Amino acid sequence: MVLKAIKKVRAKFKRVYLTMFKHYFVFFIIMVMILTLGIGLIVRSIIETTSSKEYIGEVQKYFMASKIVRADYKNIDMGKIGALGGWVEILDSDKKLIYVLGNKKDEQKSYSEEDLIYLVDQSYDKLKNSGEYYCSVANFKADEKKYYCIVKVPAEAMDITVDIKSTDEKYIEKIALKMVGSFILVILLIFLSVFLYAFWTSRKIVKPLRKILEGIKKMTEGDYSTRISFKADNEFAEIKDAFNFMAEKIETSERERERVEKLKQQLLVDISHDIKTPATSIQGYSKALYDGVVPEEKKQKRYLKIIYDKSQRVTALIDNLHELTKLDNQAYVICREKQDFCEFTREILAGFYKEIEDKGFQLEVEIPEREIIYEFDKIEMSRAVSNIIANSLKYNPDKTKMKIELSKNKDGIEFIIADDGIGIDEELKEQIFEPFTRGDSSRRSTGGTGLGLSIAKKIIEKHGGRLTINQHPGYKTCFKIELFSDKG
Ligand code: ADP
Repeated sequence: MVLKAIKKVRAKFKRVYLTMFKHYFVFFIIMVMILTLGIGLIVRSIIETTSSKEYIGEVQKYFMASKIVRADYKNIDMGKIGALGGWVEILDSDKKLIYVLGNKKDEQKSYSEEDLIYLVDQSYDKLKNSGEYYCSVANFKADEKKYYCIVKVPAEAMDITVDIKSTDEKYIEKIALKMVGSFILVILLIFLSVFLYAFWTSRKIVKPLRKILEGIKKMTEGDYSTRISFKADNEFAEIKDAFNFMAEKIETSERERERVEKLKQQLLVDISHDIKTPATSIQGYSKALYDGVVPEEKKQKRYLKIIYDKSQRVTALIDNLHELTKLDNQAYVICREKQDFCEFTREILAGFYKEIEDKGFQLEVEIPEREIIYEFDKIEMSRAVSNIIANSLKYNPDKTKMKIELSKNKDGIEFIIADDGIGIDEELKEQIFEPFTRGDSSRRSTGGTGLGLSIAKKIIEKHGGRLTINQHPGYKTCFKIELFSDKG
């Protein structure tokens, strides 16, 4: 038992754990995706910035003599050099100008070693201020001879090289800017996913909780028809089912309470009415006799008979009411004794023998020869069975066919009392066991109290048995008493 309970708790825990795990796992994946995206963006920005530096480098290369020089110097590709107002000079091994590509703007025709060193060593800033040329020198070989290639570009046309010079700072600035941008984007995405996660979690957790609370509130306000519904696959689904089950139970018991309350009210109305009618008659007739307004002896006798009959009716009603309330009382215990049910039935029938004969009833009796031992309260059981048999004799015409059948089966005793008399309306059948239910015949004869069958049912139930109204082939009315052996 304990192990089972532990397993159950574990299983439940596992489900909560799984739900939470699922939620956090999804959240974790989203975070990883965002961070990967952020890192990707940063890396991309670095690559982009790097490649732009390389581009600047390319531009720089484009103006360098060593990069454009070729043995076939007449066909050197000047590219933008010419467009920027620059030119290319080719010197022989004695550093004398032998060939010019582009439009040469100075007069120098030959160079000394120092001149060349000076050209190579010149500072860009110096050049820019002096308004001279940016120079680049490279030597090369062609036809086994040494040549020099000088590129000259006006310093003011070389703005781009300013970028090259300060590129490191710009580069760091650019990366920093892109990193900040990516960081802000990552923060925004994290905020968005936290918001979405909170929304999702609230839908999964807060929504069911809100629905449950709404249901409880409605129940406390007395709306027992309320049921809660939401989609869930964890403990919330169990809470929902338990709540709805509880609501169903409360609603049913509330309906039952209302029904019993109504019945009680009706019972009080019926009792007061049933006592009031004969009591008023008794009062009227006795007053007439007392006042001497009935001189004839014959009439006096008739009045006295009425008074007697009415008082008997009141007594019968009070007797039955007493019996009914006694049986209703949970504390009342019937006095059960083991005895033969067959013999008991025969005794009851013997008591009705004269009446059966007088009314010419065609009685069919099936009682086993062998004893059926059952533990029951003889007085109470006799009252229950007599009420049913007496009804049959009371409400049906002479010569009605009546059947009494007693048998034992694996469940216990089955006792049938049936007749093919006037029968009972389907409508009346539904509430025949409720107190004060009477058919038209009973009202006409005024003999019935409407309590006989409800008393019989309560007695049978006190024995743990069942009294029902059934169908029986060849008979219009059939009462079946079932007494179960385990309770007998
Ligand atoms: P009462 O007989 O005091 O009226 P019961 O509870 O014994 O009250 O019976 C309820 C009603 O059921 C009766 O008024 C009668 O109309 C109907 N009833 C009972 N038994 C029979 C029967 N065997 N045949 C026809 N009607 C019956």
